[in-house]
Amino acid sequence: MRLRLESSVQYLKGVGPRRAEQFARLGIRTMEDLLYHVPHRYLDATTVTPIAKAAIGQEVTLVGRVVSKGVLPTRKGLRIFRAVLQDDSGLIECAWPGQAFLDRTIRPGQLLLVTGPVKHFHGRQVVPREQIVLAEEGETIERSGMVIPIYHATEGLSHRVIRRVIQDNLDALLEAVEDHLPQAFRERSGVLPLKRAFELLHRPPVVSGGLSRDAIEEGRRRLAFDELLDLQLVVVRARSLARQAGKAGRFTIKGELTTALKHALPFELTRSQKRAIKEITADMVSEERMHRLLMGDVGTGKTVVALFAMLLAVENGYQAVFMAPTELLAEQHARTLSALLAPLGLVPELLIGRMSPSAKAAVRERLSSGEAQIVVGTHALIEDRTAFRNLGLVVIDEQHRFGVEQRAALIEKGEAPEVLLLSATPIPRTLALTLYGDLDISILAERPAGRPGVKTAVLSDGSRAKVYRFVKERCAAGGQAYVVYPVIEESQRVDLRAATTMAEELSRILAPYRVGLVHGRMKPEERDRVMRAFRDGEISVLVSTTVIEVGIDVPGATVMVIEHPERFGLAQLHQLRGRVGRGTEESHCILLTDDHHALPRLKQFARISDGFRIAELDLKQRGMGELAGVRQSGGINLKYTDLSRDGDLVMSARRVAMEILEGDPQLSHPKHLLLRRRLEQRYERGIELFRVG
Ligand code: ADP
Ligand code: MG
Repeated sequence: MRLRLESSVQYLKGVGPRRAEQFARLGIRTMEDLLYHVPHRYLDATTVTPIAKAAIGQEVTLVGRVVSKGVLPTRKGLRIFRAVLQDDSGLIECAWPGQAFLDRTIRPGQLLLVTGPVKHFHGRQVVPREQIVLAEEGETIERSGMVIPIYHATEGLSHRVIRRVIQDNLDALLEAVEDHLPQAFRERSGVLPLKRAFELLHRPPVVSGGLSRDAIEEGRRRLAFDELLDLQLVVVRARSLARQAGKAGRFTIKGELTTALKHALPFELTRSQKRAIKEITADMVSEERMHRLLMGDVGTGKTVVALFAMLLAVENGYQAVFMAPTELLAEQHARTLSALLAPLGLVPELLIGRMSPSAKAAVRERLSSGEAQIVVGTHALIEDRTAFRNLGLVVIDEQHRFGVEQRAALIEKGEAPEVLLLSATPIPRTLALTLYGDLDISILAERPAGRPGVKTAVLSDGSRAKVYRFVKERCAAGGQAYVVYPVIEESQRVDLRAATTMAEELSRILAPYRVGLVHGRMKPEERDRVMRAFRDGEISVLVSTTVIEVGIDVPGATVMVIEHPERFGLAQLHQLRGRVGRGTEESHCILLTDDHHALPRLKQFARISDGFRIAELDLKQRGMGELAGVRQSGGINLKYTDLSRDGDLVMSARRVAMEILEGDPQLSHPKHLLLRRRLEQRYERGIELFRVG
C-alpha cells in the first residue's frame, strides 16, 4: 500500500507510539518531516582515520569497537568517562571529562564513532566532541562501500535508530513523494526531481569507494531551491499587494521643483544617482505604489536622491516626510535639506523630541493644516499627536533601525503614501532579494567624483607611538579623529573599562587636544551631548565603542584608528570607516593589530573600498548572520540554503515565483495546489496573503 506522507511516523516500520513521541522531540511528526530530516554529515573511507594514524594535534573521526571502559575520578573531583577503541590498525583511549553518565549508554562491543582532537596524555588520547553508536555488540553495519549518513539525534532516540528507520522505509517513502515543482520550472532552474534529491541525500551513491559529494550537493540544492521558492512566493506576493494598495495614480511629472533643484545643485549627480531618481520617479507616477529600498554606501548621496522624490510629491500638492533614527541625524538632514532647498524658497520643518513643547505644537499645527510641505524628524513624527493633511511620500533613513511597527505607524499617517527606505548597509543583491524581496531595490554604486577617499593601513602595535604622533599632527592642523575600541557586549565590564582607560590615557598623550568618550552604556542624551561637542569641534578626538551613529557627518574628522580590528566583521569595519572621508581632505583609517591570523583578511579589507564587494566577502567568510544591520530575520529560516554560494538559486527562485504569480496571483489553480499546501504548512502568516478577497 502506498504511504501518505502526511501521516504520522508512528505507522512506519520500526516506529510505534513511543518512538513517534521521541521523533516529535526532533520536530518530526509526519513521514514527510522524516524525509526532510536529512543527514548533517556523511562518513566514508576518506573522512575516517585509521586509529593507528591518529596523530597528536589533529582533529579526527575514528570508528572502532569499545574494548574496555570505566569512570575514573580525578583528584580534583572531576569524574572522567573513558573508553578504549580498537580497529584493524590499533587501539586508542578516549576521555570525556565530566560526562560520567556516558557509562550508562556506552558498552563494550559497541562500534563507536568519535570526532574530536587528539591530545597528548600518557600517549595519545581523543577528547570527543561527538560520539555515535554505529552498531551494538555482535551487530555489523552494512557499509555500502562504507558511506554512513549521520543524522541529528536526541536523547532516547539515537542516530542509529533514526538511520535504521529511514533506511528500512526509504523506498516506500520515496514512492509517496509528489513533486510540487512543475517539471518545466525544474528543468529551467537546473534542479533535480524531489524524489531523486531525497534519495541522494539519504542513500548517497558511492563512487570509486568513496562518497559522491557532488550527488549530495545536487540533492541539497533542490531542497534549498524549494525553500527559496517558498520565500519568494510570499515576498513577491507581498510586494504586489503593497504596490496595489489604494493608490490612484496621483503624481505626474510637473518638472517645477525637481527641475529647479537640478539647476540649483552645487554639484553634478552621479550616474547611479540619476538612475535611482529615474526608477523612483517611474514608481511614483505609475499606477502602483512605490515600495523601494535605496541602498548605498555612506557618502554616495542618498539624501539628494530622496529629496528629488520629496519634491515630486510636493509639486503634486502632497506632503513628504523624512524620518531618521536619532536626533543628531535628523538635525543633520534638516541642515542639508535647508541648504539644498534655499534656492527654491522652501524651508523644511524639523520635529524632534528635544524641541520645546510649544515649538513642537507649532510644527504639528503646520503639518495638519498642510502649510508645511516637507518635514524631517525622529520618532516624534509617529506620535499620535502628529497628523498630516495629505502625506504623499514617506522616506525612512537607516530603515533597519526602526521596527516594523514604527515604519508602519508612519506610513499609516497618509493614505497609501509612497514609501522609500534608505540603507547605508550594502549587501549582495542575492541577499537583498532574500531579505528584502518584498521591496524594489535601487543601488548607488559609486561615490561622487573628486572625493579623496579613505586610505586604509594595517599597522602593528609597535607603531602605536607613531600613530599617536600622526593623530596629534592632524589635530594641530585643525583635524579631528575617532579612536574605536571594540566592546562586543556592552555588558562586558572589562571591555568597557578598557575603553575608559584608553580615553584617559589618550587625554594625557594627546594633550592639549580634548578627548571625549561615548559608549553604549551612556544615557542617550549624554551620548548626544558628547557627539554634538565633537561635531562642533569642541572635542578633537572621540574614543568610542561601536556606537558611533551611522551616517553622522563630521567633515573635520579625517582619521579613524580602530583597535582590535580582528574582532569585527569586514562589513562592520567598513561601516566604521565610513565615518571619515566626508570632507574634502584625504582621510586615513588605521587598523592597529598584532593578530597574525587576521592579517590577510584585514589587508584584503584595506585594498577594497566598495561596500558591496566587502559585504560579499563577509558573507563568504562569516555567513549571513554576521552582516551588520541585516534585517532581523523574522520568520526567515533557511535550513538548506547557503547564501554565500546559492546566489544562482535565489535568482532563479525569484524568476519562477514571479512567473507563477503572474499567471495565478492567488495560487488557486489546481496545478499549484501542492505549492499552496506547502506554503500553508510552512508560512502560517504568509499564506494569508493568498487568501481570496
Ligand atoms: P549618504 O548616502 O551617506 O546619506 P549624503 O546624502 O549624506 O550621503 O551625501 C553626502 C554628501 O555628499 C553630502 O554633503 C551631499 O551634499 C554630497 N553629495 C551628494 N551627491 C553628490 C554628488 N553627486 N556630487 C558631489 N557631492 C554630492
Ligand atoms: Mg545618509
